[in-house]
Amino acid sequence: MWPVPSRRLGFSLGINNIPKKVCSYSCVYCQIGRTINFSIKRQEFYKTDEIIEALSEKTDEVRAAGGRIDYVTFVPDGEPTLDINLGRHIEAVKSTGMKVAVISNASLIDREDVVSDLESADWVSLKVDAIDDGKWKRVDRPHGLLDHAGILRGIREFSGKYRGILATETMLVRGASRTWAMLIRWLNIFHRCRNST
Ligand code: SF4
Repeated sequence: MWPVPSRRLGFSLGINNIPKKVCSYSCVYCQIGRTINFSIKRQEFYKTDEIIEALSEKTDEVRAAGGRIDYVTFVPDGEPTLDINLGRHIEAVKSTGMKVAVISNASLIDREDVVSDLESADWVSLKVDAIDDGKWKRVDRPHGLLDHAGILRGIREFSGKYRGILATETMLVRGASRTWAMLIRWLNIFHRCRNST
């Protein structure tokens, strides 16, 4: 990978800390295809040393070519918080002096260990594709043991305590999301979250 210019993050170097398509969702629009390993169990995929070694090689390469890295972003081909070493990886990257972003589908945000890991990142995006339970199931096709109300509550609580930059993203799917109505409800909820700090 090479740092890609991002509107929100400047030059962002992506880290793929999850093997392909280990995810808690199987979103209808997923660019990587249908989820192969459906999971909500956090587990180890790569050691922190492996991640840091690969990162060090890449940053040397980028800098030697005159490039710049504004953020190191955990944005794998699956859900990054399924990685039980995520917190360790984040701390290790930050100890090199670089800023860290994590792009998550938010499905595990009601777990204390996940919150604790994400709190150490500088920038976190939590996606919300639907407020309504039925639409969430149709669009994100979640693992059967996930609880939508718990996720929304978890986002709200995380928003109240997180000290970094919190972002969100929503994919509007024709025929599944009632676009404007849903968007307005979500913006209201997110606005309440940020004002409850
Ligand atoms: S959460 Fe992301 S990786 Fe997982 S299925 Fe949805 S779009 Fe794909």
